Parts: sequence; structure tokens; C-alpha cells
Amino acid sequence: MPFYSYDDLLRISKTIQEMPCDVSDELRGWRWSDPPLLPVYSVKINASDLSFSCGTGRLAFLRHSLRVGEKAGEGLRFGAFVHQVISAATANAKAIMYCSKPSNGVEFFEIMSRTMYSCVQVDGLTEDYVNALNTLWSRAALTYSSAYDRILETSKYLSVDGLVGRVVPWICEFPVDGRLLGLSRAIRLDALAPPALIVEFKTRKPSREFEVALTGYALCFESQYKIPVNYAVILYIEFNHSKTSFKVYENIVRIDDEVRLRFVEKRDLYAQIASAKVDPGLPVECDAYCPFLRVCRSEG
Ligand code: SF4
Repeated sequence: MPFYSYDDLLRISKTIQEMPCDVSDELRGWRWSDPPLLPVYSVKINASDLSFSCGTGRLAFLRHSLRVGEKAGEGLRFGAFVHQVISAATANAKAIMYCSKPSNGVEFFEIMSRTMYSCVQVDGLTEDYVNALNTLWSRAALTYSSAYDRILETSKYLSVDGLVGRVVPWICEFPVDGRLLGLSRAIRLDALAPPALIVEFKTRKPSREFEVALTGYALCFESQYKIPVNYAVILYIEFNHSKTSFKVYENIVRIDDEVRLRFVEKRDLYAQIASAKVDPGLPVECDAYCPFLRVCRSEG
């Protein structure tokens, strides 16, 4: 990890079979036109805003009413870079199979390693970002090249599409329309493993708010595809100080009634604040990663 192989998906599938999760039908995304899922306000909330803890909903006031410019702190900037690298490595692995057709995993690994700099721009990056790039890219090359060998051994007659789907079993930046649930149109899931496993990557510390935002994505997916999503995964990626190594913690999240209702509550709070155009004031505590810290807290 964090790059899933087909075996990882089988392992997760086995795990969730042992995790019961009952969901009421009125809380399925395809019931978006009935309360409590029906959006009451016309304003569309950014799905990613739900991952920040802002108890009064001031974040929505700043973004939608005042339209204040945000400024991502270092933690958010690094997180965005990690997402970019995972997505680029995944796309490159697929391109190698479609275009270069390596004869084995060793050749796959070599091509993947030497194409890194043509996929990710490193000019202007600090040393720790380059370290993070090298570390993640090596892990992608190792994961996908060994999967490539394993899948090739199962059959010589796989179509290239079938081969790609088995070696790289997810789609990064999968687009979902959030409007039926009162969210923005252009939601991008970090990764989707067909048919319906949503995977999110986080470099921030674990938070219940991530599960609420993830639930929003799951509901939007349900509203569009009418496929139940009872589970999703958050992969917490924790780098060491110099970014030369990382650990990954896998959190399989139940998308149950409780977290669905928490999503509705938070979405409605943000939408109500954005529509009222009245400053709700500051919460007792702010999210340490909030992009509006410099606006609300002078020490941010
Ligand atoms: S800095 Fe605090 S009050 Fe301002 S938007 Fe962020 S969490 Fe809300």
C-alpha cells in the first residue's frame, strides 16, 4: 500500500463480509428527493469543505457569502502533492501496459522508474517533496511490476484491457456529480475500485470529519449509479520527517445510518449559513488545517 493490488481488494472484500452494516432505505443516495436527504437550500457546498471541522459553519460563510480567498497551509499543500503523485503513478502504470507492453515485471519496473520525471514536474520542489515523490513512485513501481508478473503467469491470452484492470484495479480521480445531494458538481473521488469501493488518501491525522465527507461522496455515488455503498476506505499515509519513508494505515469505514445523518446535519448547517449570509462567529476550536486560519485566527 497505498497502491492497491487485486489481492488487496479480495482481502478487503473478505473483511467487510464480516462487518455488518444496516442502512435505512430513506438514507440511500437514490432517495435524494425525499427528506432527510433532500437539500433544503439551493447553494451547493464543496464536498471537500466537509472534511474540515468548523463548529459554527463559518467556513461556508467565508467561502460562499464573503468569497474570501483561502490559503492552504503546508499540511494541505503536501497532501495535494501526494494525491497528485499517486494519481500520476497510477495513470503511468496503465499507459506502460497499453503502450509499451513490457515482457515481464522487471521491464515494467525499469520503464516505470525512468518515466517518473516526465510524469511529475520536480522543478522548484524542495528536497523533502522530491523524497516523497521518489518513495511513493518506487512503491508504485514495485507493487504494479510484481502484480504484472503474477497476472501474466495466470494466462498468456489476456486482453490488454483485462490485464490493466487486474494489475491496476482502481481509477484515480473518478468524477461524481454531487448536485442531487446539495454538493458541488465536480467531485473527484481519490480512487474508485469497481464496482463501488471508494478509497480516499489522507496525510492529515485521522478525523471523524473525513468519514463525514467520505459519506457525502458515497451518497452522491449512490444517487448517480443506484449501487449501495456500505463501506469505503480511508488510507492514512504518514511520512517520516525527511519524507524518505511512510507508513499506511487502512481504515475501513461503515457508511451506516449514524454517519449518513451526520453528513446531512453538517451539509444543512453549511448550506444554511451560506444562504443566510450572516457571520455565525468563530467556534471554540478551529481545524488546524483549515485554509481560512489566516482570516479567522491571526495566529494561523
Ligand atoms: S479558521 Fe476556524 S472559524 Fe474560520 S473557517 Fe476555519 S475552522 Fe471555521
